[in-house]
Amino acid sequence: MDKKMINFTVGPVQMSKKIRDIGQREIPYFRTEEFSKIMKENEKMICSLAEADDKSKALFLTGSGTSGMEATILNCFSKEDKVLIINGGSFGQRFVDICKVLDIPFYEIKLNYGEILTEQELEKYSDKGISGLLVNAHETSTGILYDMKMISKFCKKNNIFFVVDSISSFIADELSFLDLGIDVMIIGSQKALALPPGLAILILSEKAITRIKNNKVNSLYFDLKIALKDNQNGQTPFTPAVSILLQLHERLKDILEEGIEVERAKIKELKLDFINRIKNLPLKIFSKNASNAMTAIETKNVSAYSIFLVLKDEYNIWVCPNGGELREKIFRVGHIGQLSISDNDKLIEALNDINKRGLL
Ligand SMILES: *Cc1c(COP(=O)(O)O)cnc(C)c1O
Repeated sequence: MDKKMINFTVGPVQMSKKIRDIGQREIPYFRTEEFSKIMKENEKMICSLAEADDKSKALFLTGSGTSGMEATILNCFSKEDKVLIINGGSFGQRFVDICKVLDIPFYEIKLNYGEILTEQELEKYSDKGISGLLVNAHETSTGILYDMKMISKFCKKNNIFFVVDSISSFIADELSFLDLGIDVMIIGSQKALALPPGLAILILSEKAITRIKNNKVNSLYFDLKIALKDNQNGQTPFTPAVSILLQLHERLKDILEEGIEVERAKIKELKLDFINRIKNLPLKIFSKNASNAMTAIETKNVSAYSIFLVLKDEYNIWVCPNGGELREKIFRVGHIGQLSISDNDKLIEALNDINKRGLL
């Protein structure tokens, strides 16, 4: 593990030196006015980046992204609800699995890998008494970026509570909380925020806050009523991931200072550069409507998993393999985190070399 690797996965991703340095420091005591002030600023900054208004709140949970998904469903829905899940891959399936565990009635639109969600398909559910919709804006297992404007329109028209897992699309893709009428936006620390894993962030609309306050949940750690109460004072009920929250503070300040468009443009530039330069290789881009955050690539002649292994073991480069049915078929290249065009150079060089060796 001490070799210098270049990390093109979709998370955890490479972090800047500034962020890594904060992670080395001693962790301060957090029940203080000073830490509360940082938390309040974190909330304000993340809401502003998500384009949420003053009435929205942001909660910071200690756990990976999935803890944010589960906490949302647990606190915002009950057996009286009927939710619709867009299931186009392993992260859509995760919503299905959570609803099963928590006994939340659901319908699912099961899409083939890489398939696009159409308006006709969605409209079939307009008279089914749906009260909530769950979607992963970017289904990270296939690279698909759903048409969020279309889904938002459907939710607004049918007065549906709208939950968006934007864990891998936040920053990388355009996603406006207010414009889309999102009720809960789920964010994770280890994707485009380029921080260590361990922090899930929920941005909540007024409607979401009301749902949480009126819901009774069988959980102490994930009872968001308690979190909302402490949030008023810039605190959390239990010890938070203090150092990640301090890293988040720096990162958000930097993004706001530079402009989120600049950050997004950088990600997109890396993606376009990469796509342009693999055109002559025996590889195929898997999804057309794709997130800026990553590119899913189909191998034509060889096992996609073998490419992951060769890149890791012989070229010191990590790309992201797929699990399940897609394991032999596609691998994924992330464009988020501290990466540059010269990192792309190294990946392209490696892929060209692998091709020359007859392994592609
Ligand atoms: C990474 C990711 C998650 C969260 O996964 P964790 O391993 O729990 O952090 C959830 N949804 C999507 C779309 C993701 O890309």
